[in-house]
Amino acid sequence: MKFQIFFLTMLMILIQSGFGQTVEEQNKDYELIEILTPEFLTIQQDSIDSMLRMGLTSEDAVRLSSGDIVGNGGGKAEADFNYTYRKLYKFISDCEASYKCIATKRQKSILNKIKQISLINTNKKDKMIFIDEHLVPGFFRDSNDPQVRVAKTGFDSNAPIFINLDLIYNHSSKPYDIPAIVAILIHEIGHQTGIREHLLLDDLAAIVRNFLNSEKLQSKMTVENSDVIITAFNFQDVDVFTELSLSYRGVNVELGTRILQESRCDTRDTILVGFKIENIHFERAVKRKQSFHIKTKAWITLNCQGLDLSIVKESRDLKVGFILERKFLPPGMIYTIEDLSIVVK
Ligand SMILES: [Zn+2]
Repeated sequence: MKFQIFFLTMLMILIQSGFGQTVEEQNKDYELIEILTPEFLTIQQDSIDSMLRMGLTSEDAVRLSSGDIVGNGGGKAEADFNYTYRKLYKFISDCEASYKCIATKRQKSILNKIKQISLINTNKKDKMIFIDEHLVPGFFRDSNDPQVRVAKTGFDSNAPIFINLDLIYNHSSKPYDIPAIVAILIHEIGHQTGIREHLLLDDLAAIVRNFLNSEKLQSKMTVENSDVIITAFNFQDVDVFTELSLSYRGVNVELGTRILQESRCDTRDTILVGFKIENIHFERAVKRKQSFHIKTKAWITLNCQGLDLSIVKESRDLKVGFILERKFLPPGMIYTIEDLSIVVK
């Protein structure tokens, strides 16, 4: 009994002394614990530490991690950023393997570090935090940069990448496509390797972005003075699915997942691990009353992997059909993409 009391007393003393921390450190911990919220608890301690190193106060770190500022993450841009982050390792590897991806020795070395960080952080929940900028005015501004930034992060790999949702959704020209998102992520993860120079990272991001754009297949036709565009990104790796999307007047439809659902490998004991699309072309649109019936065709190669990990390629035809509906809703015309059908045969 006596021993137990002695042990407890020692433990109390140890806790009170903060296990050898300075008074300042203890206060900081206390402050942090005081303002913990349930949402905040889902953010990992190393991310919090990084936010503090970014110069944020602990109150700001909490605000920036809680539901009142952070977007719900359910929008298209958030989905695209998450998708692109998961694939970043493959995109960079693909670039590294290509003769088109010309980089200096230093750039290659930084790119490799970025690739490793993206791989390590892929499954980390708070690797990206989406923020409604108008709720934290000035957060995305730099003292030496008059422009509002689309993203910001710290100088170590535990720092979250904060993404400016206001800028992403109110972007006046085109929405951010996959190569543009890749460029943003390479720039930000580049900072996480410890690099402070923005221009150096912009150059690096441009190399990979240009490479991805050069691998882009696009087919378009004009309907009512605007382009209907189908875009595909093919990747050299056999186990990556081509990115495919359809767009018209700002309406974007992602087709890759649907194509995946419609595709089956015929070869015994193989599973579909990737596909590649070539030769996309439109048939002439058929106008019916207020709508346009549109059909596109492409070649699709399915990469089917056997138990011994070997790849069998199977060729199919891909047909994508849809209706562009034109509706007059004051003050103007709106267009929707309806009745999407996908056949892989
Ligand atoms: Zn920067």
